[in-house]
Amino acid sequence: MIIAIDGFSSTGKSTLARQLAAHLNFLYIDSGAMYRAISLYVIQNDMLIDFMIDKASLIKSLPDIKIDIRHERDKENQVMMNGENVTSQLRDMKVSNMVSEVAAIPEVREKLVSIQRELSRSTDIVMDGRDIGTVVFPHADLKLFVKADARIRAERRWMEMREKGDDVDFDDILSNIKQRDIKDTTRKIAPLKKADDAIELDNTSLDKKQQLDLAIQYVNDLKH
Ligand code: C5P
Repeated sequence: MIIAIDGFSSTGKSTLARQLAAHLNFLYIDSGAMYRAISLYVIQNDMLIDFMIDKASLIKSLPDIKIDIRHERDKENQVMMNGENVTSQLRDMKVSNMVSEVAAIPEVREKLVSIQRELSRSTDIVMDGRDIGTVVFPHADLKLFVKADARIRAERRWMEMREKGDDVDFDDILSNIKQRDIKDTTRKIAPLKKADDAIELDNTSLDKKQQLDLAIQYVNDLKH
């Protein structure tokens, strides 16, 4: 069984996907973490020219970037890049500010979509992202499309980062979320959009438990 969870940035898709997968005992994959890992590679290897991504160099280096995802039940995915666990660096603002541009590069998407499809071959899976129900798994058994008010999303992300000890500015987070919404919905390749057969889930006024219960109900509905 394949469950695709797409939606806007910071809507809590990953939490929902992780909890739903734990409930069902499925593999959980956070596809956004893969795009973040490639962005980190760009930063670590100084692949910038005049603040723009040096796309030619990145495309040339893609075969050398090995990404592995380690999954443990009800835990955040651990992302290994060329043997190094880079998970703790993936949510840095530097990465967040670059990732939508990296994700708009067709060669990057091609590489990551192929890894994502491979991961589903031998197991039931819940995957979250932007194009999971539209491009990666158009025949997914269940597709959810998650949205929430931008200010609420920024508040949740701000609190999460503060709890981790990151001294981040609320307005920077809000602006990053709005920028990514625009970039993700307007890009030419695999833009963020609701698949025709996806169920919309607006969690502006839902807590994590309520949203999980709703998702479990949609899964149960499939069986009837
Ligand atoms: O889900 P998360 O916010 O970590 O994703 C980071 C970025 O990666 C998104 O803003 C989007 O640009 C890109 N992404 C994507 N396709 C996916 C998952 C993420 O383009 N399937």
